[in-house]
Amino acid sequence: MKPFRSENTIQHSVEVGGVGFFTNSDITVRFHPAPPLHGISFSRIDLPGSKPIPALLEYAVFRERRTALQREEAVVELTEHVLAALAGLQIDNCLIEIDAPELPGGDGSAMLFVNALLQAGKVNQQVPRKMYLVEQKTKVSSNDSNATVVATPNRQNNLQISYTLDYGQNSPVPSHAVTLNITPETFINEIAFARTFVLEKEVAYLKAAGYGKQTTARDLLVFKEDGSVIDNSLHRPDECARHKILDCIGDFALMGCDIHGTFQAIQSGHQLNREMVNVLQKSDHQKKYQAA
Ligand SMILES: [Zn+2]
Repeated sequence: MKPFRSENTIQHSVEVGGVGFFTNSDITVRFHPAPPLHGISFSRIDLPGSKPIPALLEYAVFRERRTALQREEAVVELTEHVLAALAGLQIDNCLIEIDAPELPGGDGSAMLFVNALLQAGKVNQQVPRKMYLVEQKTKVSSNDSNATVVATPNRQNNLQISYTLDYGQNSPVPSHAVTLNITPETFINEIAFARTFVLEKEVAYLKAAGYGKQTTARDLLVFKEDGSVIDNSLHRPDECARHKILDCIGDFALMGCDIHGTFQAIQSGHQLNREMVNVLQKSDHQKKYQAA
């Protein structure tokens, strides 16, 4: 088994801002260093007296197409990209102050947060990071689609994620797949830039559901029926599957520890990713290793 890595926090506090998809208002996010074993938590400073919300599955509440966390009255929406940024960079302990019920969207990728966290620097805290080792094949499937996520043991003792995106032959987004070993280096270079995407025909539905009333096609990728991207261009031909891997990393971070295993996701979304975390946490066959 690989030696445990040490937990990390950030060297100094750092602030980012942006506009919220739902509130359409300016949001300020402050990342602060946190002690070993603190984990990641969100503090709604616009709700005085509210308790910090740990970024753990037990605080996740059901949402379509995103991951929200709630503790009592305090809710934080759209946590997946900031959690991916922290997990991808292996920043394990961080208090995130936020003055709104949602994270800013940035360009639809994790770069807003990654750039801030890189600027904040990383500090080794000399405490072993908890690790979860997938020891048995585990599968979760969607009830109403062909989406699946399969976790299997990984001989290299690292985290590997494959994502297969397949909306069918007639979809504006062609089928493609990406497989990556997740390290801070691959996260920064291969994943962090990948942006959220929607189909043009979904935009009206999403706006009716409260999403992005002022969001433009510059704030994410909007695919037209003919496969072109409105007022924007892809960073990579397989950017969509890379974004789905980014979402997996953010959702799997709700385990609150490193995961070593191989994950093969087909058409999965946040809900199924969270279900995988739920099943892994409950499984008697899996072992959670904690250094003595
Ligand atoms: Zn996403």
